[in-house]
Amino acid sequence: MFIDPFGRAITYLRISLTDRCNLRCVYCMPQDGLQWQSRASQLSVEEIARVVESAARGGVTRVRLTGGEPLVHPHIVEIVRRIASISAIEEVSLTTNAMLLERLAQPLADAGLKRVNISLDSLDADKFRRITRDGDIDRVWRGIAAAECSHLAPLKLNTVIVRGLNADELPALARLTLENDWHVRFIEVMPIGNAQNWGEGFPAPSERYISVHEMRDMLSTFDLQPVTAPQGNGPARTYRIPNALGTVGFISPLGEHFCQNCNRLRLTSDGKLRSCLVTPNEVSLRDALRSGQPLEPFFEQAIAQKPQHHDMLAAIPAVSRRGMSQIGG
Ligand code: SAM
Ligand code: SF4
Repeated sequence: MFIDPFGRAITYLRISLTDRCNLRCVYCMPQDGLQWQSRASQLSVEEIARVVESAARGGVTRVRLTGGEPLVHPHIVEIVRRIASISAIEEVSLTTNAMLLERLAQPLADAGLKRVNISLDSLDADKFRRITRDGDIDRVWRGIAAAECSHLAPLKLNTVIVRGLNADELPALARLTLENDWHVRFIEVMPIGNAQNWGEGFPAPSERYISVHEMRDMLSTFDLQPVTAPQGNGPARTYRIPNALGTVGFISPLGEHFCQNCNRLRLTSDGKLRSCLVTPNEVSLRDALRSGQPLEPFFEQAIAQKPQHHDMLAAIPAVSRRGMSQIGG
């Protein structure tokens, strides 16, 4: 079993399948994209499957695919099928912007995908287009409908809240849970790879951050009741509006509570194990994979390096060398 030096069992692997994306959300990527990793540096389907088999032997039971945008990966359905067929893996899920979900939801469900988290930062089509720099909100809604038809449930909607951009939509987003069995989760914007100006009409860097405490205050009229988080709600503090079908969650990556129960390990798309989103220690699996070496010692090394908690503010310069889309947000 993978147990880190602080006694936490590592049971959850997040895999960034690609650093590429079909959107350019202002808080995540510059308009012109990033210096993309070469195709040769990215792991193949076979290599990803080997990593998950090894992780499963160490006690990993849940895998989440992310990126970049996992649905732009040309072999996404095959990857899901390979991972889902590993007997110790109980759940394969995926985080997506949903641009390509309408046609992929059913093939992915057939391949063994259990759930999707969909990023949706505004309910207003024009604002959504501005935030994502050209995303089409109608495609997101069609993707959500397809996910529901394909029983990819429970559906989670992730919204990064930025002051002066979409914080005014907190009540409307929370109200989605009244009649939908969805988990709407509000996330504090993290100062990762996005310190530059986002352009005309966007808030300045020093004005964007809004804490989950303030978000909760902005929803005080809803009489939010704390509930036990649904399975897989990770670091979210979860509430329900009385009689609502779904829940409202708050995720504070800057807050300490994010760390104490952390059961995660990450695999970057260029084959590096990372035991913390924020702390930049990485262990490369790629050469070991390509030279046929056993992977277990590399897992042990990465887990031994897992920090007790991160220090987000001290780590910002180092974190910023790799953005969220490269680490796998
Ligand atoms: N492309 C997929 C998507 O957008 O859902 C998956 C990758 S994206 C990096 C994963 C999550 O990270 C998204 O929910 C996105 O909103 C979030 N994210 C990206 N940059 C962030 C930042 N600077 N602060 C907080 N969340 C961020
Ligand atoms: Fe792409 Fe997701 Fe980053 Fe938006 S948040 S640019 S969809 S990786």
